Amino acid sequence: MEERNSVVVEEYLQVIYQLQSEGNPVKAVNIAARIQATPSTVHATLSRMQRDQLIDIDKKKHIRFTEDGEEQAKDMIFRHNLAEYFLCNTLGIPWYEVHRHAHKLEHSMTPLVVEKLAEFLGYPEYCPHGVPMHGYEAELHDTWFALDQANEGSCVRIVMIDESLEDSEDLLKHLHKKSIIPGQEHKVMERLDATRSLILDSEKGQTMLPFDIAQKIKVTECC
Ligand SMILES: [Zn+2]
Ligand SMILES: [Zn+2]
Repeated sequence: MEERNSVVVEEYLQVIYQLQSEGNPVKAVNIAARIQATPSTVHATLSRMQRDQLIDIDKKKHIRFTEDGEEQAKDMIFRHNLAEYFLCNTLGIPWYEVHRHAHKLEHSMTPLVVEKLAEFLGYPEYCPHGVPMHGYEAELHDTWFALDQANEGSCVRIVMIDESLEDSEDLLKHLHKKSIIPGQEHKVMERLDATRSLILDSEKGQTMLPFDIAQKIKVTECC
């Protein structure tokens, strides 16, 4: 029987994959910052992952997945997003809370459960935050751009809240209250370069959103 990775390794696979897809350099220090762990803990786990041939670490200390590591990381992200979809759409847990619960659930799903759950849910294309499921990444996303790039006066539809914002439930709750939810439309009233923020207007009223958060929210142009 194939030996399963530990919960810690499964978390690292996801964090490395996220850092990689954000275009950030993947180094031990970035991982430590993201998961708020000490460098020595991170180094210990990374050496284990290197020993198990999930990652390679080059002379400049850049971390890259092996083919096997990348496949396992994608599988973990798929489980995570599937668990989120199930918790939100089947059990009715609010979209801004499911991330935390999914992080517990994703480690205890056997391959058969993953397969049956995907079938039961009708092979969803996106997690509740709008992140494309494995297999749907490439389609129709050419029109997506970061909200901090939106022009003054334009109308945008929220399509995705980045995974890196999901760890802050308070922030997601705030976004929910301000209707910054996948599928919702907003008008960009003002770009305030001096305070590095945007003023958005929707049915729920006006909201000021800092550029550094808007940067992690993807939108499409509408109307
Ligand atoms: Zn999540
Ligand atoms: Zn999600």
